[in-house]
Amino acid sequence: MRVVIAGGGTAGWMAAAALAKYFGGTVAITLVESDEIGTVGVGEATIPQIRLFNSGLGIDEREFLRETNGTIKLGIEFVDWRRRGERYFHGFGEVGRAIGLVPFHHYWLRYAGEGGELPLEEFSPNAVAAREGRFGPGAGVAGARLPASAYHFDATLYARFLRRYAEARGVTRREGKVLSCTRNGGTGFIEALEMEKGDRIAGDLFIDCTGFRALLIGETLGIDYEDWSHWLPCDRAFALPSEGRGRLDPFTRSTARGAGWQWEIPLQHRTGNGHVFASAFTDEQAALATLTGTLPGKALAEPRLLRFATGKRRRMWHGNCVALGLSSGFLEPLESTSIHLIQAGIARLLALFPDRSCDPALVEEFNRQLDFEYEAIRDFLILHYHATDREDTEFWRYCRTMAIPESLSDKMELFRASGRIVRFNTELFDVPSWLQVMWGQGLRPRTYHPMVDAAPDADLTRYIAMNAGEVRQQVDTLDLHETYIARVARAGRDT
Ligand code: FAD
Repeated sequence: MRVVIAGGGTAGWMAAAALAKYFGGTVAITLVESDEIGTVGVGEATIPQIRLFNSGLGIDEREFLRETNGTIKLGIEFVDWRRRGERYFHGFGEVGRAIGLVPFHHYWLRYAGEGGELPLEEFSPNAVAAREGRFGPGAGVAGARLPASAYHFDATLYARFLRRYAEARGVTRREGKVLSCTRNGGTGFIEALEMEKGDRIAGDLFIDCTGFRALLIGETLGIDYEDWSHWLPCDRAFALPSEGRGRLDPFTRSTARGAGWQWEIPLQHRTGNGHVFASAFTDEQAALATLTGTLPGKALAEPRLLRFATGKRRRMWHGNCVALGLSSGFLEPLESTSIHLIQAGIARLLALFPDRSCDPALVEEFNRQLDFEYEAIRDFLILHYHATDREDTEFWRYCRTMAIPESLSDKMELFRASGRIVRFNTELFDVPSWLQVMWGQGLRPRTYHPMVDAAPDADLTRYIAMNAGEVRQQVDTLDLHETYIARVARAGRDT
């Protein structure tokens, strides 16, 4: 079996590294990339699943953090999203401990309804640790860490790191521009990539990682793009690195703006910033002025403009071509899910890996699973924009009143009516994530689970205090995030 990967951004090198590791040299892997075209290069925030990917490859966390200038991410702080002047935190991991079948937040709803003053955030270890800038075991505390965390890193350095990993395991890299593809007249399968310099690269399975250009899945095979801009109207971003704020925050900050939002991602050597905006509601000059006027420190480069449309390919695997990364679709970076979607595609491809015939049953199953994955994340993103009290600009008035997918309106109504949150099937974001964002955006349940009323008042008080106490205890064992990162960097120099 000959696998040809077209494109060497994050998607291409993640795919190459994973295939090299799991097939251990039994498939021939060639990756083609063009130095002249380059990569998107942004994409610095992740979600905890990245840990599974890295540990599956046997990557040492310290080495990874060192090589990518990485930091820890405990969640996202959302500023001005519900109303100007308000903020909330979406932390990874649990929010309180469930009692039997009933999630913690139902008990908390009763407690808050009876005048209890501790906010929901106090029950998320990640939210409390983030606020205090903490992560990693404190002095004399062996192994203490928070159960769910992810990373911020320099995406270009990560791709370079994976390239070294993949090449050391037998992946062949070819540099050059792909001009077109040759297809088999009978099956329609791609047979070879035709290179600018006149050579050709033949294969049995082709992985399209050519980014927004989608050279194989789009240009060659003509698979349409399903555009979701009517639900997620942001379609551009300016990216601009700067100096940081001083403290190395272990979280991403997302601040809502008049026609979009702005990210702030602290890395070891700089802070990544970007303003994601909707061109239908503002112009590029104004968007850039917003970004440059609100940087946390001195700009370190020239701003870069990126254009995109939120949506996905109607089919991400067609014939003998599988699209991964930006060629397969793009969900704007609000919850940092793109790198996860690459990982999800790779995991599905490994599970459903074909022989040369690429049986349609495998192809259909892959497409079904990834469609589901994309749609569930899409709904979660729309929630942030739609459930808002903001009416101060045309953009927010549009988002507040736009029609939303039924799958999302059902979920919101269930929460409003009963405090219940249902996680569909294997959808990525679990109950605590939906809870924190629904509550943070101002959705208020009319009631809570009736089983909660079985608890006598004294038990409820004890249970709430115990949960808050456990969070406090856990966070107290942690060191400062910057101390932890400095230790990781130092360990690199010492070894
Ligand atoms: P690219 O990086 O574009 O790579 C494409 C590759 O294909 C390159 O190597 C290029 O040389 C090659 N290529 C293209 N055409 C040819 C050709 N004709 N011949 C040869 N080679 C070719 N993701 C996250 O997870 N978290 C984030 O916080 C995040 N923020 C983002 C912010 C913005 C504004 C954008 C646009 C994206 C963001 N992403 C984020 C997404 C993330 O950047 C991408 O998912 C990731 O970089 C993967 O990109 P890629 O490898 O698919 O494409």
